[in-house]
Amino acid sequence: MPAIRILSDRVANQIAAGEVIERPAAVVKELVENSLDAGATRIGVEFRHGGRSYIRVEDNGAGMTKDDALLSLERHATSKLVETADLDRLGTFGFRGEALPSIASVAHFELHTRPAGAAAGTEVVVNGGKLVHVRECGVAPGTCITVSHLFNSVPARRKFLKTDATESAHIIQTVRLYALACPQTAFTLVEDGRVLFQSPVCSTLAERVGEIFGRSMAADLLPVEIAEAGLQLSGLIGKPVVSRATRHEMLMFVNRRPVDSRTLNYAVIESYATSLARGRYPVAVLFLELDPAAVDVNVHPAKREVRFRSEGAVRGFVIRAVLHCLREFGAPAPVVESMNTKGRAASPFAAAPYQPSQPFITSPPAPGIMAQPFRPFTRIPFTAETYPKSSSPIVPDSSPAAPAPPPSALRNPAMLMGWRFLGTAHGDYALFEAPGGIVVLDRRAAHECVWFERIRAQFARREVASQRLLFALPVELDAIASALLTDRLAFLHRHGLEVAEFGRNFFRIEAVPVWLEPADAEIFLRDVIGLMREGRLDENKTELAREELARLAAQKAVRLPPAVNEAEALVLVAQLFACAQPHTSPAGRPTHFELSRGELARKFQR
Ligand code: ADP
Ligand code: MG
Repeated sequence: MPAIRILSDRVANQIAAGEVIERPAAVVKELVENSLDAGATRIGVEFRHGGRSYIRVEDNGAGMTKDDALLSLERHATSKLVETADLDRLGTFGFRGEALPSIASVAHFELHTRPAGAAAGTEVVVNGGKLVHVRECGVAPGTCITVSHLFNSVPARRKFLKTDATESAHIIQTVRLYALACPQTAFTLVEDGRVLFQSPVCSTLAERVGEIFGRSMAADLLPVEIAEAGLQLSGLIGKPVVSRATRHEMLMFVNRRPVDSRTLNYAVIESYATSLARGRYPVAVLFLELDPAAVDVNVHPAKREVRFRSEGAVRGFVIRAVLHCLREFGAPAPVVESMNTKGRAASPFAAAPYQPSQPFITSPPAPGIMAQPFRPFTRIPFTAETYPKSSSPIVPDSSPAAPAPPPSALRNPAMLMGWRFLGTAHGDYALFEAPGGIVVLDRRAAHECVWFERIRAQFARREVASQRLLFALPVELDAIASALLTDRLAFLHRHGLEVAEFGRNFFRIEAVPVWLEPADAEIFLRDVIGLMREGRLDENKTELAREELARLAAQKAVRLPPAVNEAEALVLVAQLFACAQPHTSPAGRPTHFELSRGELARKFQR
């Protein structure tokens, strides 16, 4: 057995690097945190090829002397943490003294730095953990670190990197989080020579949000500012009408540090439970401040997970705070989004004769429950009279894009022998008697299945029919969304959604696929961008990207008709069972279940 040896620093650093630096975005995180810790009021981040070939972070912070610069590359060298007791009261982002040596051990690393007032600056170059040289140089006060050829010396790590687009999305997200955490610092982010965003010093969070996400989004947010028993929550949350398909715009910070916290995420989602449709997420930029001793940030150096000593107390506080804020906003009028249809008086809920200005209330608002506009789709009980017959592809079959077979052309009529449609229940469900028992079908899930296959087939055949909008729809996006979208305009165009760029961060939706209601076009586009953010519309994997797009499209294409007759209901079942995956919707929900005759008999103890 070989003798036990102390690892050389170089090896130790490479091992530590595996923990701290798992991808290019982690380098950016560490360097930006250092710049903020150094008191920078201006930070520039530049990267190329998803960060794997080049990352540069430049700041106008305190800078380092030559001695400090060298020391900073020693393991566990930190100017920040002195005693272990300090761990509880960290006022800085960094404290481990591991980042710089780790980065320098797995890349080509160049450091240029000068404290204000020093006559000259210092240049340190390290390659794969080996010091190449140290010399005097002329630089502006502050620090500039360049990291190139990341993981070149560690092929195992390099293998785990995702596509450039994905790595770049992580970097962008990282910079965005710190830019939100520190509005008083100016940020510039450049990818492959293109400015992704540039924000001057901002005096408020709202201003910074406007810079990053676009002014129109800033206008949709409500301020939160509440303190209670040592906990303080501040920031901005979306009005209840604003929702997203992903959690990407729920950004949480604890003591100014960006974090991932299930506790916080769930607390916020729960607070919106009554106002958002299932599967939709709110928008929030929230800062929780609490005694550092009550939170553990040290779970993993590279992860952003935090644990609270008292999860329950934090959760309760956040829910109360968010609800309070939503209630204040929603209190004045329990108004429901107006339906563009005649005959509202036919609704069982419209007690008085219909008057155009009268709010249409679906159910009496329960005391204490915040009133907000409902989505007609999920909440308003349609009747045959109230449903806008003329406006849309109600059943998939009626869409011009997708002529469906008449009932007589059911693909497998034998399968439906002996089926009888019993009716719909609670709007969403269709009940059937079948020879083997009773079948309950979720109409929405079933329609989504059918649409998914249909749209996917259209995509594959490149036969997406699109309709030009009479008036192009203007959309303002944040800088990152703009950059993502600009790269995928051609892809979307090929799939029926025509969007043109006009001016910085402004776009116009000019044509939409026929299965999409023009009124849903903006939401659809934003949801598509959500997929791009998650790296799920990777152009190099066209098949997968199409599949994702079709999945989203299927949700948007379905217009549930309020009433169906037996023929329509059976057509739906037949179409569903003609699908490759009839049992689950593209979103993963079950489409139907059966109660067998045996089960029925057991229930009634026959
Ligand atoms: P930590 O941030 O945990 O202290 P790092 O390895 O990230 O460890 O950095 C080591 C030290 O180098 C820091 O404590 C700080 O003194 C110095 N340093 C790093 N980056 C900068 C910078 N951009 N400006 C000034 N000093 C810096
Ligand atoms: Mg650090």
